[in-house]
Amino acid sequence: MIRRNTNQRQIVFDALSCLGHATSDELINYINNNNSNISLATIYRNLTILLDEKSIKKVKIGDIDVYETTKEKHYHFKCRICGNIIDIPPSMVPNSINNIKTIDKNDVLDCDIVFSGICHYCIKK
Ligand SMILES: [Zn+2]
Ligand SMILES: [Zn+2]
Repeated sequence: MIRRNTNQRQIVFDALSCLGHATSDELINYINNNNSNISLATIYRNLTILLDEKSIKKVKIGDIDVYETTKEKHYHFKCRICGNIIDIPPSMVPNSINNIKTIDKNDVLDCDIVFSGICHYCIKK
């Protein structure tokens, strides 16, 4: 019983690793296409467990929620043409932003930046 659940959780986690960033719908479609027999309820249950144990997290990109596996701190870039979401390491962002401690008299605890524009794949087309 425990083992079966663990395997299903691993399938959900691996699917998300492959996709990089995915909405719950994208994740469900991907799992259904690759691993048929997992029910919707099971996918949602495992998503909740993975979130609870912080193996994955939910991030807001524009007005949509996407899931990703937990990684080092990073920002995001979203392509306006293809919708691709790319991780941007803090080293590529000016230190004045990475190290900001207060802004307009408010203490800063975290900073999620979403850049948007045209990704390098779309620029090449
Ligand atoms: Zn693009
Ligand atoms: Zn990310």
